[in-house]
Amino acid sequence: MVKFEGKKVTAIILGAGSGRRTGLAYNKVLHYIGSKTVLEMTLDKFEGMADDIICVCSKQDKAEFMRLTGRYKNVKLCAGGATRSDSVRAALKSAAKDTDVVVIHDGARPFVTEEIIESSIASAIQYGSGIAAVPAIDAIKKTDGENIISLDKSTLFCAQTPQTFRYDEISRAYSMVSLSAGDDCEIYELAGYSPKLIFGDWSNIKITTAEDILKLPSKDLKIGAGFDVHRLAGGRKLILGGVSVPYDKGLLGHSDADVLTHAIMDALLSASGLPDIGVLFPDTDEKYKDADSIALLREVCGKMRDAGYEIKNISAVIMAEKPKLAAYIPDMRRIVAAAAGIELPQINISATTTEGLGIVGEGKGIASSCSCLLEKK
Ligand code: MG
Repeated sequence: MVKFEGKKVTAIILGAGSGRRTGLAYNKVLHYIGSKTVLEMTLDKFEGMADDIICVCSKQDKAEFMRLTGRYKNVKLCAGGATRSDSVRAALKSAAKDTDVVVIHDGARPFVTEEIIESSIASAIQYGSGIAAVPAIDAIKKTDGENIISLDKSTLFCAQTPQTFRYDEISRAYSMVSLSAGDDCEIYELAGYSPKLIFGDWSNIKITTAEDILKLPSKDLKIGAGFDVHRLAGGRKLILGGVSVPYDKGLLGHSDADVLTHAIMDALLSASGLPDIGVLFPDTDEKYKDADSIALLREVCGKMRDAGYEIKNISAVIMAEKPKLAAYIPDMRRIVAAAAGIELPQINISATTTEGLGIVGEGKGIASSCSCLLEKK
């Protein structure tokens, strides 16, 4: 790698565990966070940091690992061993012999930062090793089975990965020490080396338990947009967001022509990947003559939830020259929120004129646009 004084850097990413403690029926590194697996999120961090990446996997996950790693130019797979130490031993043997530095990292730590990786590599180049660790936060105790001995936590650290070493030194350590250890740092120490600590980050967690999985951020968010216009005419009620607004004209349409609710429905359907209201509730269908749009909104929200989505928020605008709408907006918010099954802070509605310009400004019609954010459950 040019950025590391021309040293050849090989990363070893460990993914051969079964992840039994997470309670998943599959390997935790294959768990999706949004559109990517934990493994891909981890590999993304190392792709530009290492010349070669050796990804250690179990026999049963090999096909899925091949599918997921195919798009990375510098990733190759290696079969894992019975223990973590055996897996590292196998990966070290399969590394290119001209490797200068080896970065060893848990596949289940996808939140590692480039800064931590860089500083562990820089430390290994300068001192022989760079072990990521964070100061202990909790009070730490030791026990002999009966008594508790409180330890001075100011000198205690929790080790993370990456743990980075000069290739010749860590290879020598693993060939000298045949036992199985909790991490690479321990093997390195047992071989007589003095590991060097670098600061990791508390966000660099290892996904281990079911609680860890539940705490992971879901990033499967979808935005939606909707827009509608209806013509104003005499002899019709003006319905906006389910509220009957006193005015000498109303909106013309097959249904109640609630332009605001129509824009909201189209935004929700768009984000859910469903057809729009013109398809779902055709104006050629007698069933929807004078239909209550708020009832249709309830139906749309049912379809949206069936598609697996929940509303994060709805933000809508009504464009009307007249009448003044500010006094009616609180009722519109309450009615729409109730129909959509959300809380009041999740919906906001604003009103604007168009300064006398265009169909709205000339008082020929009322328009509405809406944006929404949904989250896939
Ligand atoms: Mg409409």
